[in-house]
Amino acid sequence: MTPIATDMPDLSMPAFSEDLPYPRRKRSHHDAIMPLQPLCEGTATLGDHLLNRTADSRPRAIYLHIPFCRRICHFCNMRRMKGSPESRYADLLIREMEAVTRIPYVRDGIYGAVYFGGGTPSTLSTPDLQRILRALKAHFHLTDDVEITLESSLSDLDEDKLRAIMAEGVNRVSLGVQTFHDRGRQLLGRLGEGAWARDHVRRLRALGLDNLGMDLIYHYPLQSDGELALDLDAIAELDLAGFSLYSLMIREKSHLAREYMTHADQTPQTLAREWQLFSRILEAGQRQGFEILELTKMVRPDRDRYRYVALRYQGGDTLPLGAGAGGRLAGMMLMNPLSLEAYARSLEKITDREGMTTRPPYDALYRFIGAIQFGRVELERLPEPARDPVRRRCRQLVERHLLTPVGEDRHILTPKGVFWGNNLAAELAGCAMEQR
Ligand code: SF4
Repeated sequence: MTPIATDMPDLSMPAFSEDLPYPRRKRSHHDAIMPLQPLCEGTATLGDHLLNRTADSRPRAIYLHIPFCRRICHFCNMRRMKGSPESRYADLLIREMEAVTRIPYVRDGIYGAVYFGGGTPSTLSTPDLQRILRALKAHFHLTDDVEITLESSLSDLDEDKLRAIMAEGVNRVSLGVQTFHDRGRQLLGRLGEGAWARDHVRRLRALGLDNLGMDLIYHYPLQSDGELALDLDAIAELDLAGFSLYSLMIREKSHLAREYMTHADQTPQTLAREWQLFSRILEAGQRQGFEILELTKMVRPDRDRYRYVALRYQGGDTLPLGAGAGGRLAGMMLMNPLSLEAYARSLEKITDREGMTTRPPYDALYRFIGAIQFGRVELERLPEPARDPVRRRCRQLVERHLLTPVGEDRHILTPKGVFWGNNLAAELAGCAMEQR
């Protein structure tokens, strides 16, 4: 995927207009695919679904879920548990690889990206990470240029561990920094002070991993301009390959919700502030040589292509491994059990695992939405009957300054369109669904 910004001559950000294109900002790609729900058919077992299917040569991804965190962040409600994994968890993952590659469709596929997510994958010990990486290479056909990403907290990754996993093929690391500001770190429940975090990233970067990036959270309660400026200054100094930018979502039941649930309310004033912070990040990022790769990601294009997410959004299969891992194989959505006991039991007969099947045009619409995540609206991805109405809707979005036409039936998202990208994707997908 080409970064959106290569088509954007000018990223100068328009002033916020109170004439909101949508009443609420959708901040997650899960919101964008909601309109496709009627295309989910029902459950089937993995064995039945993959029986008689043969693998094609399109590259796939593997997602490994490590659902452990030493400390729970104050904003988090994800699929994870407190603590660190014992070696038994690595044993289970390797058993799962052995079991799942007995299915020809899985065994014969070509895998171009592996992603360790969580939770906090770096809570695994170095020997366990090494064992898992070696087992991946032993069980799957990985491409020569496979991208292997590890998400990591700062406190669980030291130089020795990073050196060891780089030697085993990890070539992309995403650090869960969130902010370098002390008040922000405390508020979000991150370990360590900002100066320590910055110094730690500097030391990891010195090991020569070119594709080292981080997560940045913005629009947290009472975030000042100075706090954001400190983060942008650190990103500039640390020579990162890219960074993800997430507007803080305060979910019910998270620690932060106790005190700051009203921060989740969206009003013209809060959206204006969110837009202001977002604009500053995009402008500073562009000045530093980053380009927008997808709705929540800026990269240096010669250093980070984020192949894992590109494969997913292009509709490629994603094999889920680990407790609580989600993925998709041959059009079937899968979610492994999160409890360790249930996960271990499910390995006894992996072909009995159940998933949700989908029916056409789910795949085509999913890829259409995936391209929007990368800043492009491409009508040729849609079934023919949906094109006319979506074309008309796109004209309205051009008038609302969310899209720019770049050719026949092709548009790119403006910076404002990137801000409202999940709304726009849900609107166009909903419009396409009406024409079935
Ligand atoms: S590291 Fe990630 S998964 Fe773990 S508690 Fe923090 S936000 Fe949640």
